[in-house]
Amino acid sequence: MFPGAGDSEFAFELLVCRWAELAWHPADGDRPVVVARQLGTRERRWDTVVLEVAPEVFATRRAFGERTLDSDLLRVVRGAPAEWAWYRDALDDPGFPWRYIREAIHRAAALDLIEKRSGPNGRIEFRRVREYPDWVERVIAIENKPDLDASAARALADQLRHDVESGLADEVWVATGTTGERVSPALLEDMPVEVGVLEFDFADGVDADAGEVVWHPTSLRADGDARTRLLLAERAYGKGWRSLRETMRPDCRHFEVRREGRALVPHCAAKGRVPTAAECKGGCAEFSPEPPQWRTNGWPIAGGPGKGVRELLERRRERERDRVDSE
Ligand code: SF4
Repeated sequence: MFPGAGDSEFAFELLVCRWAELAWHPADGDRPVVVARQLGTRERRWDTVVLEVAPEVFATRRAFGERTLDSDLLRVVRGAPAEWAWYRDALDDPGFPWRYIREAIHRAAALDLIEKRSGPNGRIEFRRVREYPDWVERVIAIENKPDLDASAARALADQLRHDVESGLADEVWVATGTTGERVSPALLEDMPVEVGVLEFDFADGVDADAGEVVWHPTSLRADGDARTRLLLAERAYGKGWRSLRETMRPDCRHFEVRREGRALVPHCAAKGRVPTAAECKGGCAEFSPEPPQWRTNGWPIAGGPGKGVRELLERRRERERDRVDSE
């Protein structure tokens, strides 16, 4: 890892996410992707999620906004008819009270995702503005283990088997740090054979060549629950992997963003390394709010460095999405 990374699994995870934006797919050539971190289902959380998307329809998904469509909004948007209709005629019985659907219709209309009007007898009618596209081609789960030794591989094996059998992912990978030696066959023996292994050298941060495929994955059937898979993809789309701008403390005077190759990585000047997401919070003993004058007269970044960092990370996210659109 690069100097200042410490032994941070968090730093490793950020670099894997950035690398995936630059270099996915590692064996089968360039594919446009959306990358997110720390997502999953009730049973299992994935470190990195890569969505391979269809560029020609990705722009249509973006037209529904940059945020996640939650379960109720998705039901309304996907079920919205081309012509005006009473919502109970257009949608399948949800299996829970209709008032939740009415509330979602009002929310969707307020976000310009659909149109609504009051029909005969005051019945709520709605219709679509545009069709919700089939924008996700493949879902990839990556488990990040910078120090993958034989005992870590054994401990991971059951979780990976679950990932393979979940029917939600089209490919499952383990990402690990390079050791300078070939990954031993004994280590691979503990893993399900369907799981790919990627080895990374992040000594100089990230570039597209930082990862090497050590074991190729098997393409999975991904025949699990389609709705769960789409909800997962929607959460990945809305969250991305730069959500640290909301969960960490860029408004702390010790918070910095450093360039490590082609990645921007958080750095804590007080700790002298990448802080973990768990420690970089308001409860951090060394937290010190940026002085108010940083946000006012003369400071080169409008709103102060904290706001500047948030905006910078947001712009990076938009830039990557624009890149997918143009592919
Ligand atoms: S001192 Fe604490 S809150 Fe401030 S940047 Fe470092 S880890 Fe984050």
